[in-house]
Amino acid sequence: MNDDERFMREALKQAERSAAEGEIPVGCVIVRDGVIISRGRDRRKKDHSVLSHAELNAVKKACKKLGDWRLEDCSMYVTLEPCQMCSGAIVQARIPRLYIGAMNPKAGCAGSVLDMMHEDRFNHRVYVTYGILESECSEILKSFFKKMRARSAAEKTAKSEKAEIVEIAAKAAKVSKPEKSEKAAGTDE
Ligand SMILES: [Zn+2]
Repeated sequence: MNDDERFMREALKQAERSAAEGEIPVGCVIVRDGVIISRGRDRRKKDHSVLSHAELNAVKKACKKLGDWRLEDCSMYVTLEPCQMCSGAIVQARIPRLYIGAMNPKAGCAGSVLDMMHEDRFNHRVYVTYGILESECSEILKSFFKKMRARSAAEKTAKSEKAEIVEIAAKAAKVSKPEKSEKAAGTDE
């Protein structure tokens, strides 16, 4: 396993933690001089904050640790292509190197919807490597959403079954009690 995969695997561990907490499984680590200086994971639900993406959480911790808003000697490893907000933070923090696991065709801004990493009109460009442990990074998201869909389908079924039972019970209550059968069990042989 090379260093890129080793660090992406650490980002994946963060994604796994998010999934276990019912959050979208996206994880991130920031590396400086070959050492992980911060980790981040998606915690939007827990933090009640749209800002609580894996990348922003990792950037905040790294800035605090280094005592600087610039992360000029750092590399970021993230399991999913960053959105417009996180891509903005990466450019703003002047992170020079970005390693991405899976692409995000619907919201990614490192080449999918927009390419904020290679925009000549910005004062900073990011060197990006794509597809590090891509299948694992995408699989964790796919299985998370599959589970979520199965759960919501099960909840729907349970709800409609409950409604059906209530309906049947209501109907049964309306029907008057039938007369006791004259033929008791065992007498009709
Ligand atoms: Zn983001």
